[in-house]
Amino acid sequence: RDKIIESNYTHLNQAQQKAVLHTEGPCLVLAGAGSGKTTMLVNRIGHMIRFGSIYRQNHVPETMTETEYKQLKEWYDLRDDTKTPMPLNLSRLLEYQSVDPSQVLAITFTNKAAREMKERVEQLLKGTCQRMWISTFHAACARMLRSDIHRLGYGSNFVIYDAQDQQVLLKECIKQLNLSDKKYSPRAVSGWIGKMKDSMVSVLESKKQNEKDFYNKQLANIYELYEKKLFQNNALDFDDLILKTLQLFRQHPEVLRYYQEKFRYVLVDEFQDTNKPQYLWVKALAEKHQNLCVVGDDDQSIYGWRGADIENILGFEKDFSETVTIKLEQNYRSTETILNAANQVVSNNRHRKAKKLFTEGLEGEKIAYCQCRNEYAEADFMVQSMQDLHEKGRNYSDFAVLYRTHAQSRVLEEAMMKAGIPYRIYGGTRFYDRKEIKDILAYLKVIENPKDELSLKRIINTPRRGIGDKTVETLEGFAVDQEKNIWEMLTETDQWKHRISSRAANSLSKFVHMLDKWIKEKNAYQVTELVEEVYSVTGYLELLKEEGSIESQGRVENLMEFISLTREFDQTAEEEKLEDFLAGTSLEAAVDSLGEEGSGVLLMTLHSAKGLEFPVVFMPGMEENVFPSSMSLKEGNEEEERRLCYVGLTRAKEQLILSNAISRTLYGFTSYNEPSRFMEEIPSDCVQNAGGNQESDHQQQDAFRKKLQRQRWQRKEMKPMETNSAPKHVGENKTLKTGQKVNHPAFGSGTVVSKVNEVVTIAFPGGGLKKINLDYVKLTVE
Ligand code: ATP
Ligand code: MG
Repeated sequence: RDKIIESNYTHLNQAQQKAVLHTEGPCLVLAGAGSGKTTMLVNRIGHMIRFGSIYRQNHVPETMTETEYKQLKEWYDLRDDTKTPMPLNLSRLLEYQSVDPSQVLAITFTNKAAREMKERVEQLLKGTCQRMWISTFHAACARMLRSDIHRLGYGSNFVIYDAQDQQVLLKECIKQLNLSDKKYSPRAVSGWIGKMKDSMVSVLESKKQNEKDFYNKQLANIYELYEKKLFQNNALDFDDLILKTLQLFRQHPEVLRYYQEKFRYVLVDEFQDTNKPQYLWVKALAEKHQNLCVVGDDDQSIYGWRGADIENILGFEKDFSETVTIKLEQNYRSTETILNAANQVVSNNRHRKAKKLFTEGLEGEKIAYCQCRNEYAEADFMVQSMQDLHEKGRNYSDFAVLYRTHAQSRVLEEAMMKAGIPYRIYGGTRFYDRKEIKDILAYLKVIENPKDELSLKRIINTPRRGIGDKTVETLEGFAVDQEKNIWEMLTETDQWKHRISSRAANSLSKFVHMLDKWIKEKNAYQVTELVEEVYSVTGYLELLKEEGSIESQGRVENLMEFISLTREFDQTAEEEKLEDFLAGTSLEAAVDSLGEEGSGVLLMTLHSAKGLEFPVVFMPGMEENVFPSSMSLKEGNEEEERRLCYVGLTRAKEQLILSNAISRTLYGFTSYNEPSRFMEEIPSDCVQNAGGNQESDHQQQDAFRKKLQRQRWQRKEMKPMETNSAPKHVGENKTLKTGQKVNHPAFGSGTVVSKVNEVVTIAFPGGGLKKINLDYVKLTVE
């Protein structure tokens, strides 16, 4: 049997084959980036279903008649590029599969990943796998709840509340409890409740935990009411999908038993990013058959801030005592140079399972690195590099730009638009399409032209000021009756006040007054001043800041980034007129992604690039305070940032192009940042200076340097950077090169003269040659 199987999986390496074949019993595949984990999972599913292996056995299985076998083969051959369903008389043959598709549950992290996995399995099986569950945690749970949530008292037609619905509901709760929504902003509260749910703290527990602290006690009360209201609305929020399923399993063991029976095989990709409830869910489902295969890479755990728990990986072997752990050590994705750099960077983390990763791939090109004057020079450098590579025959769709935050994309987007390079943004919206940017633009548009009803309606209740949709409808109707524009109607008469609730009328008067002032005085303002005033007077910015979630933080960053844009306009425009500013922005906003779907350079955050690969990867913003971000440093998350860097570097197959800006204006502030510490961790022999914008005049550079120095001192005072002084161990990593000077703990310094796998030969002064096994001796690089 093994022979047959071997011949079916020769495209996989030994370790991958082992994982594919180990279908019974728990299996943990822990391996570095690009080592074929996801590929293995797909093949494993294929193997279990075994259409292919019946076919390839090339003899009639005992359980089949010859005719059946022939029919099956014919059908199978026919299916190469069509999706012909299996003829009815053959469907009986499905019984010959060792595993039925409906017995498989495969979990991935994003919808995109789930879709891709499904496609790859279908391709492999040359058939659809409708009955197989390949989905995200959330989708799988929603599906389970649809059929059984009535047992918890909900209707099966429950709705799922998104973040916005959640805000509305929380606002109601806060009001009902007579709390101030200034002190308890719905956004901040939802963040707090999210944390409770991530760590599975129930309402009762949270009330107990927070008895003593007045503020938190109220939070727990809001939490209680919020849960009650969700229930009354027959609604679940996102976190509830998993929590309610767990509750269902706990309170109705027969439901759990059903799924335990059903899913004989459970597989989880990107296991390092599961949080506690998700892990418990998987564990419960796999408890009976124990056929659980999880794959992951602790070095790529980048969702700690969402409660993902690296302990899940480390504890897996304890929870499933029969676990077979398999390591994949060959990277098939990247060139040797790229892999060396990535390995070296991540080896600076202390909290990790040591692992090996090698490639038989080519050494490849050196990593291009350009230190740029500022973010504009950086964008120019990137555009130039893209054009050069394009001329040499690369497609624009070969390129991905991975940045730390979305706000970094704006300058690059502009440069690419000017150069006519097609691009698309993944998992985020183009700068001008983002909600908060549209909101602020709508304010400016109304100030410029109060007749713009579309914009007026956009902001009339943004941020929420108690002017609901009904009120707006009434007003609109009234304006139509009077044959007036809404704004005219609002400013020219008082009659509307009697048509709506006095509360809404009150708040609307304030709104009108606020805008009216800006409209009348708009020419006295610089655009930047005006925007800053809108941010503060409307409370828009403050509300976002209070929310404190990652998403709101991104929005705040974008709003600050918008200020960079207005500053630039104010400084360069001939006349600082709002009108001209708006004309400029709407033109830019109108240039839609030039290419069609699927073509062009892909721009995305490092987080969303997980699991993907690209021939050429650009990572701009390789500077302190951008990457690692100042926020993460403040919170002591350096190691998570380094893992994120590892994820970024290992997305590249052939070429990496890194850059930083000496001065960068981001979020409205200009700062001078040193190159990222991660940059320094990349071995210098992997990197090639890509020149670029070095020609700026000496005086300017001197000034930069002085500012840099000043910042460096300040930072050192705050937090000494120990990381740089520690010697770099080269232990199990593969970055040693012949000719390199190293330090041996006993023999002192010497020079590497050759290297075969783990064994390096070192020449020590005085003529001694010694063979050293890196598995046992830690050398440090001089
Ligand atoms: P990540 O950690 O980034 O999720 P991964 O471990 O899931 O990576 P895959 O995406 O499965 O890795 O594979 C990386 C690349 O290597 C893919 O292009 C895949 O086709 C290729 N690959 C995987 N296994 C093999 C193999 N045995 N031989 C040749 N190529 C392989
Ligand atoms: Mg993968």
